[in-house]
Amino acid sequence: MKQTAALPQFDPLSACVHCGFCLEVCPTYQLTGDENNSPRGRLRIWREEAAGRLEAEPMTDFYTSECVGCLACETACPAGVPYGEIFEKTRHEHVATGRFKPKLELKVAAMAVGYPALFNLALTPVRALRSLGFLPHPLVFPGRPAVLESTAAYARRFMALRKPDGPRVALLTGCLMEAMFREINFATVRVLIENNVRVVIPDDQGCCGAFQEHTGLDGVEALRAKNRQAFDGHDVECVVSNSAGCGFALAKTLDGKPPVRDVLGFLGGLGIKPRPRVAGNARVYVDLPCHLVHGQKADGIPKAVLDATGYEWELAPCAKDCCGSGGIYNIQKPENAREILARKSAFLDDAAGEPVILATSNHVCMMQWNSARSLVRRPFQVHHVIQLLDPGEKALLNS
Ligand code: SF4
Ligand code: SF4
Repeated sequence: MKQTAALPQFDPLSACVHCGFCLEVCPTYQLTGDENNSPRGRLRIWREEAAGRLEAEPMTDFYTSECVGCLACETACPAGVPYGEIFEKTRHEHVATGRFKPKLELKVAAMAVGYPALFNLALTPVRALRSLGFLPHPLVFPGRPAVLESTAAYARRFMALRKPDGPRVALLTGCLMEAMFREINFATVRVLIENNVRVVIPDDQGCCGAFQEHTGLDGVEALRAKNRQAFDGHDVECVVSNSAGCGFALAKTLDGKPPVRDVLGFLGGLGIKPRPRVAGNARVYVDLPCHLVHGQKADGIPKAVLDATGYEWELAPCAKDCCGSGGIYNIQKPENAREILARKSAFLDDAAGEPVILATSNHVCMMQWNSARSLVRRPFQVHHVIQLLDPGEKALLNS
């Protein structure tokens, strides 16, 4: 009998061909010019360690800890190196062996997101403060969230009032998004219903697991299992997410059953109703979250959706570059995150428009952009793109 030769096993760590295409897109290489602080350098360190040619030591730990996790290197890489997967595994190993220590506040938050009801309750004072116009921290952007009504209750109320009969989707409400920034979830519900979409919100859904993936802490599998169960059996076309990072994490979890779509991409495919033209000189600068373009590999936010906002808009300079938030990076490595943001936000000093609006589609990026207020010389607003499409509650009730 003819023997077939076994195929050589794909070794992700050895897939790098050292071309260096990833260097210019890497924010930590751009900051430092240090090869070890680049994707190629980190891969080399991990490969040498795995082969036993390099001892684990503080220097190698440092270079791993410096990575923002933006995944821009994956998009740039012609050899298909699965950098994100390798990094996630390495970070988890480093946490397990004490080589990387997430800050205490991140550990507490990672534990708390496993209990959504408790997490929501604990952040009630923050919602109340925001709804009164007080912002307890530079990362907390302005907004008027409902303090008590949940997005699920809100969606049920508006579904009963408007009775849309179009495509049926499930909405991922998220943990931090629901607990702190639920006005964005409410706007998402309104925009979907306004566009005749039926919205289902599975009550037992939980955190997408992105927080655990970023911190390297245990518990991600339990969160994934919970969401596989929560999103099963709802007879929906897809799950939509209004947070690029959460959508990316949930898509890995559900693996197409059902598919996960970014809500703006989904609306772009529907033929979204345009908002009236906005009068005056307002100008929107659109920034693209890393986990949308480098994680989900989307081209960006559909032009039809951005046109439908009614605003004059343009892409922010270097829109596909990282803003420094990196999920947890602006808390774990605030100095680096701020330097990355300072470079990226410098254009706002001289940006045309009144008001100037920075719009993106991930609440963690919005937090990071909000903290640029102390870096930028002129005032600017931070919004989620879905908020620019929002007809508002009154208009929705009266239409
Ligand atoms: S994930 Fe981002 S910060 Fe990390 S190596 Fe890749 S490009 Fe650099
Ligand atoms: S782009 Fe890919 S193959 Fe080229 S150096 Fe970077 S990781 Fe290696």
